[in-house]
Amino acid sequence: MSQFQNTSCLFRVYPNQTQEQKLLYSFLVSKRIWNDLLLQENRRREEGSAPTPCDLLRLQSKRYVVKEDCKGGDPIAYGEVGANLYRAIRRHLLAPNQCRYPKPKVIHATTGSYARSNEDGAISYQDGKLYLPYLEHLKIRGLSPIPFGARIISVVIRKKASGKYVASITYSVRAKAPDPASFTPVGKTVGLDYSPARLFVASDPDLQITKEEVAANRADVRKIKKTDSKIRSCTHLSNNQKKLRLKEGILMEKIANRRKDLIEKYSTKISKEYDAVFIEDIDVKEMADRHSPYRFGRIIAQSAWGLFIKRLSQKCKQRQKRLIKVSRYYPSSQLCSSCGYRQQIPLEKRIYTCPKCGLQISRDFNAALNIQKEGLRLLKTAH
Ligand SMILES: [Zn+2]
Repeated sequence: MSQFQNTSCLFRVYPNQTQEQKLLYSFLVSKRIWNDLLLQENRRREEGSAPTPCDLLRLQSKRYVVKEDCKGGDPIAYGEVGANLYRAIRRHLLAPNQCRYPKPKVIHATTGSYARSNEDGAISYQDGKLYLPYLEHLKIRGLSPIPFGARIISVVIRKKASGKYVASITYSVRAKAPDPASFTPVGKTVGLDYSPARLFVASDPDLQITKEEVAANRADVRKIKKTDSKIRSCTHLSNNQKKLRLKEGILMEKIANRRKDLIEKYSTKISKEYDAVFIEDIDVKEMADRHSPYRFGRIIAQSAWGLFIKRLSQKCKQRQKRLIKVSRYYPSSQLCSSCGYRQQIPLEKRIYTCPKCGLQISRDFNAALNIQKEGLRLLKTAH
């Protein structure tokens, strides 16, 4: 049995001088299109009319390719700007509390993005070169090359604040559907409890993120805060401010890379060493929402739990291991992992003390043990 599966991969892009100029020009035009169309949609919104349909917005943005002050470029790529605006407005209308209404783009910002769908089949990839109409053969490098026979669906090229270019390429490949009977038998298992400060706490004492790994980013976060206050005291758009912005961008990328490394390292390790992984099924979006009672917003984003779970589930699938989610209503932090006694404990209390059996362990570790217990129970009842 086989089916098509979509995969997105990130690549570093090395544009030559001409290509870089074309990209920068396209960023600028895309921002202009976005702002123009947004203004038009804002007017419609004030009048109480529905947003312009996606296809019409796409058509309108494609027309910019012949406008006097935006001449040249790839009409299909410009069409994506309208489509993206439509999607952003729609997301807001569907969930006003979670997705903000789109904002205008800052024209003079050094960052930008260029999206191109492969609706005409013109995009291709061969030997580390990505072919895009208008930009032509771009040199790209990534951890895993696009597999032979894959069909490219879309490409998004971004310029980051650090000055680097990256491309996110979505392609579809024929994939074998996992056969439930071929899963490895369950031997070693682990429960993971989400922790805002250290990503996760595992029920296995040998599998913990070290203090050094957690502390590595703190120094850079402090540096960013310092740079940030310097940027604010600078003259707006001065050379000094641009320099500081670049410095800040490089620091941010360093932190993001370190975080990505950590996520890749632990998702690989866990999917290799354990036969079944149990996690709490928490709603990251709900927790990130400022109106939610959790109010962890920033920290959630920083520890990137969502990305971790995504990579972990992909790797478990590849290795035919089980990843089982425990209900978010399961009281993992209230139960005693030794005797099952249940009590309410306030969030600031970091040690779990059981009045019944006298157990005294870290609150997160106790929760991880409970998640493992509940996961094993679910696994048994599923058979
Ligand atoms: Zn107890």
